[in-house]
Amino acid sequence: MPYRLRPNVQKMRAYTPGRPIDEVKRELGLTDVIKLAAGSMNIYPDASGHDLKAALGSKFDMDPASVVLGNGSDEILNVLGLMFLGGPDDAFVMGHPSFLRYGPTPILPGSKSVRVQVDGEWRHDLTAMAAEARGANLVFLDNPNNPTGTIVKQSALDEFLDAVPDDVLVVLDEAYYEFACDEPGYPDSLQYVRDGRSVVVTRTFSKSYGLAGIRVGYAFAPPEIVDAYDRVREPFNVNALAQVAAIAALGDDEHLKSTIAMNREGLGRIRQKMEELGFSTVESFANFVCIDVQRPPEELSDALLRQGVIVRPGHVLGMPTHIRVTIGTPDEVARFLEAFESVTA
Ligand SMILES: *Cc1c(COP(=O)(O)O)cnc(C)c1O
Repeated sequence: MPYRLRPNVQKMRAYTPGRPIDEVKRELGLTDVIKLAAGSMNIYPDASGHDLKAALGSKFDMDPASVVLGNGSDEILNVLGLMFLGGPDDAFVMGHPSFLRYGPTPILPGSKSVRVQVDGEWRHDLTAMAAEARGANLVFLDNPNNPTGTIVKQSALDEFLDAVPDDVLVVLDEAYYEFACDEPGYPDSLQYVRDGRSVVVTRTFSKSYGLAGIRVGYAFAPPEIVDAYDRVREPFNVNALAQVAAIAALGDDEHLKSTIAMNREGLGRIRQKMEELGFSTVESFANFVCIDVQRPPEELSDALLRQGVIVRPGHVLGMPTHIRVTIGTPDEVARFLEAFESVTA
C-alpha cells in the first residue's frame, strides 16, 4: 500500500449491498432501463452511484472507476480523515486561514492538524506546506481557498507536488472550481489523477450548481483510495434524490453559465465600489469576496445584520480586519452595497 492509510482501514472489508434493479438489468443487457427517479424513492439508492459516476466520467473525460461520491464533499473530507488519521502521531497539513471544516477532522481520531499561514497576498504558502507535508499523512489544499478566495496556479502546484513525498495524499478541494476554472493558469488538476499522482480532487454540487440542500459531492481519486473510501463510507451515503438531481444539474450548462456570469458581474461590482469607497479587497476567484474594513469587523457586521444583510465577520475565519461577503443576485449585491455605504458613512 503506497499511502499512509491506517492499518485497520487496510484490513477492512466492504459491505455488500443487495443488487440494484438497474445494475441487474444492465448486466443482462436490457435496454428498457427505468431511471432511478421519484417513482422509486421507496427502494434503496444505488450504493455504487453508477449513473452519476458515468455522467461525471463522461463530462470530465475521466474513468468512472476513479470517482467517489459523498453526502456533500464534506463527507468525502471526513471519510479521508478517518482513512488516514488514527492516533497522536498522525497529522494532516492545511493552510491558515483555510476551510473551517478541516478543523474537526483530527479530533475524533485524536490526531493533529498542522496549519500553515498563507502568504502576504492571502495565497497558500506552498513551499512551507510542502515542508510540513513530509511529516504528515494527508494535505488539505482548497483552491480557491475559502475564506480568502485566492487561487494557486498550475506551475506552483506542479512544484509543490514534486516536493511532497509520493505516499502523502494531497487533497485538492475544488469546491469553487466552476467559478475559477476559466482563469489562465488555474490548474488542470484532473490530469494529476489521470497521471497516477497521489492526488484526490474533490468537488461539489453545493456552490455553482446551487444544490447545497441536496448534499452531493464527488471526487476523482487513485484506485487504492477509491477502494479504501468505498469500504469506509456508509453504503447508502448519497440518497436517490441527490443522485438524480446531480445528473440533471450536470446536463444544465445554461444554468451553470448564467450563475458564473452573474457571479463575475456581482464580484466586479463589489470590488469596484469598494475601491471607490477606499476599502481594499482580496482578489477572489470564488463566489465571495473579502473586504478589509480596517477595524475589528464585529461591529460592522452587526450593523449590516440589523439592516437584514448577513455577512461573515473575518475574525472567526482567521482574517481579523475583514468581512467575507457572498455574491448574491444583482438585487442582493445592490442591497449589500447600499447597506455597507450607510453603515460606514
Ligand atoms: C462549501 C465547501 C465545501 C463543502 O461543500 P459540500 O456542501 O459539503 O459539498 C468543501 N470545501 C470548501 C472549501 C467549501 O467552501
